[in-house]
Amino acid sequence: MKIPVDVGAISLYQDIDREARDEHWQLFKADQTTLPEVIQAFDDVITTDELPKWPEHLSRITDAWAKQIHDYLNPTKPPRKINRPCPSCGEHHYGESREIALVLYCYDDEGVMLRWGQWSAECRACAARWESDQLDWLSKVLSE
Ligand SMILES: [Zn+2]
Repeated sequence: MKIPVDVGAISLYQDIDREARDEHWQLFKADQTTLPEVIQAFDDVITTDELPKWPEHLSRITDAWAKQIHDYLNPTKPPRKINRPCPSCGEHHYGESREIALVLYCYDDEGVMLRWGQWSAECRACAARWESDQLDWLSKVLSE
């Protein structure tokens, strides 16, 4: 029987596990048996003031891990593709996989649609960008 495995999640776990054990070794010169024990040891350091400098550092890296996990579980919505050639460089596609070059960013990091004035567009071939009222111009040019 095959067990379904999320390779991306395993990879993220291994990255965090490796970094956590490195930090733990620098701090205590000792190995813990499990990642939860390592994280618990960090929490103990964060909540005491016996080791100056470490609480801020550990808070920062554990917050970064929490954000990585959150972002992995809540992927941002991909930008919308604009199936027209870029008005700046003329390219319609880019890269080896021939993806559409022009994209429209209309969602925030939480996947919520932004207001029109906050949207932006980008050409992934030439890196030209259009923001706020420049989008009116882009929209006009693309509809010609
Ligand atoms: Zn372009």
